Amino acid sequence: MQHHPLHNSVRIGLAALAIGALTSACTKGAELMLVENGEARMPIVVFEGAPPFTRQAADELAEYIEKTSGARPEVIEGQPDPLPVSAIWVGYQPILDKLFPDLDFNFQHAEEILIAANSNHVVIAGRDRWDPEHMTVPDRRGREIVGIQQEYGTVNAVYGFLQDYLGVRWLWPGELGEDVLEQSTIALEPFVYRYYPQFRSRHLIFMIYTLSKNMSGNEWARHQRLQLDSLAFNPGHPFSEWWERFHETHPEYLALQPDGSRGYPGGRTSKICKSSPAVWEQWLSDVEESLLVDPNRVVFGANANDGWTYGYCVCDNCQAWDHPEGQTFSYVSKGRVRQYVSMTDRQIIFANTLARKLRERFPDREDLSVAAMAYGVICGLSPSTM
Ligand SMILES: [Zn+2]
Repeated sequence: MQHHPLHNSVRIGLAALAIGALTSACTKGAELMLVENGEARMPIVVFEGAPPFTRQAADELAEYIEKTSGARPEVIEGQPDPLPVSAIWVGYQPILDKLFPDLDFNFQHAEEILIAANSNHVVIAGRDRWDPEHMTVPDRRGREIVGIQQEYGTVNAVYGFLQDYLGVRWLWPGELGEDVLEQSTIALEPFVYRYYPQFRSRHLIFMIYTLSKNMSGNEWARHQRLQLDSLAFNPGHPFSEWWERFHETHPEYLALQPDGSRGYPGGRTSKICKSSPAVWEQWLSDVEESLLVDPNRVVFGANANDGWTYGYCVCDNCQAWDHPEGQTFSYVSKGRVRQYVSMTDRQIIFANTLARKLRERFPDREDLSVAAMAYGVICGLSPSTM
């Protein structure tokens, strides 16, 4: 083919123009269109076999993109074949290593999230851990909770994306508290955002919206990233059932009273004899049983029972744990009121004893721990301030 000089100069001119356009796009930051003028430009792709809350978050992402722009992206599960030119990837799947060669998806921190966009793709992912065999577990009252994971990085990443990049705000529970920023075009410049929370136990900040309560509006706490956390424990009073369970068969587990009886006043607020090795053994058996039901449970309670002014054990061994110079308070025992020192040392020694026993019984489970509670006189409140 013969090249006409004029032809060549036009080509050179066009090439120069193209370079100019490219340069200017780079300077401004090339925008990736998720939605353009009310039309979805890319699907959402969630990894195959995503657990329930993760799958739901992918659907909610589509829902909120629609609320924002009027366009609802398709949600695809698994790796599409052929690969889409552009997509919003929810959760990690191996193809992401190719689509984002500069990103490290090997999350090092609990609940770590990674939200990023390059010129073609968006990824919204986080560290996810779950045990397919134990995703439905009973709570403390025996109610089933479905979809349990040990970490929900991807779910929380999706809600973080909706808030920080789409402008969705959940100001209070219910439809009226939802604020969506309407925009017919959703575009992102390339970015990388990584984060992991310092507080791993957040579900009790709004106790009424824990998963087990199943209250209407509980998705609000989920959207705040307070509900699906990675350190679940039952704070309550784990010895509440002990009087019912043992007052006939093992009264020696229960707190000794000055008159020689055990378990005053009876029922859920009866205290136990914390210094008793038999109590420690029973507690360990209970832990063992819990682990058979839910091997992913990691925190076990040593918290005091309710009713912090009465019923404590007066046996010599329990009293030996108390600080002789502790601040004094009024305590009620069966048939007697007395001034006695704070129970702080007793509670802490008890928790530490159980923690040591737990380590001895389950030497391979370094993830197990014991919860104690700052409760009653431990808080430093005297009866006169209550
Ligand atoms: Zn005792």
